[in-house]
Amino acid sequence: MLQKSITLVIPTFNEAQGIAHHLGIVLQQLDALANYRWRVLLVDDGSQDHTAETISALCAQHDSLELLCLTRNFGKEAALLAGLQEAVRLPDCNAVILMDSDLQHPPQLLPQMLALWEAQVEVVEAYKQHRGNNTLSNLFANSFYALFYYLSRIDLKNHSDFKLLDRKVAEAYVAMPERARFFRGLIGWMGFSSAQIPFAVPPRQYGQSSWSVWQLAKLSINAITSFSTAPLHIMTVLGVAFIGLSSLIGGIALYDKFTGTAVSGFTTVILLLLLIGGFLMLGLGMLGLYVAHIYHEVKHRPHYFTDFRRSKLKSQPPPLPH
Ligand code: UDP
Ligand code: MG
Repeated sequence: MLQKSITLVIPTFNEAQGIAHHLGIVLQQLDALANYRWRVLLVDDGSQDHTAETISALCAQHDSLELLCLTRNFGKEAALLAGLQEAVRLPDCNAVILMDSDLQHPPQLLPQMLALWEAQVEVVEAYKQHRGNNTLSNLFANSFYALFYYLSRIDLKNHSDFKLLDRKVAEAYVAMPERARFFRGLIGWMGFSSAQIPFAVPPRQYGQSSWSVWQLAKLSINAITSFSTAPLHIMTVLGVAFIGLSSLIGGIALYDKFTGTAVSGFTTVILLLLLIGGFLMLGLGMLGLYVAHIYHEVKHRPHYFTDFRRSKLKSQPPPLPH
């Protein structure tokens, strides 16, 4: 019987310290799953250390390993998309698994993921059972997921990017035309049949997480404004409520004036000015976020560029970078 072919996509960014050790463990796990044909595709997202060189050397030793180098650091979302595009380029790929390179996505889950896929599940998602002990980042993450759910009705609480996608899901994801991508959210939004597997996130052994607070905040705002226009509507509702309040205060002010009981009211004027100014700025800022989205979408720039000279692909790459 023809073996099914699975592509494991692993994005890497500045992982030189631990990548050889981690890949060794992943390959060991794959040996135990020899009833599938494996293609391990590492996407180097413009690492500034020796990650690409280390992987390149490993590619010469292991047949299943391949390397796709991006020309610079485009971010994890772009690296995942690059991996998915490269995976579905080959017609024999049956499913794609996306996994981090720092072993925080345990490869021991692979057999369970594959079993669910064999049972016709189209998306197998690993979700985080325990987050780390950093209460501030947990509070931030939980508030983001609650707000995201409230605005988009997609529940992403404790979801991770560790997922198995059936080929048709990967193809559908790659074919979507939008520029601003939030992988976890979009997969949930697509609505294919899914199953969840819980896992405890092990601590990072080498290097450190590349997400700063500012990047996480940017990602959250991007995710929310890509999935919901509710913030704009909330501003409209606030505007209407403000007009109601202003009419009431205006009516009282006019009544006082005509009955001759008007007082100086300096504090009220200052407070109203500040409040209205604040709301206007907030409304403009909110509008600006959506205009920025439109700006990025209409430019239609590629998500990434590929450095084929440094890449180590087994099949002939397409003539032009996408
Ligand atoms: N990563 C990437 N590009 C980036 C940042 C990260 O490809 O710009 C990769 C990184 O090498 C790792 C995965 O994405 O394999 C998750 O990154 P990280 O461990 O820093 O994130 P965390 O686990 O803290 O969410
Ligand atoms: Mg990590």
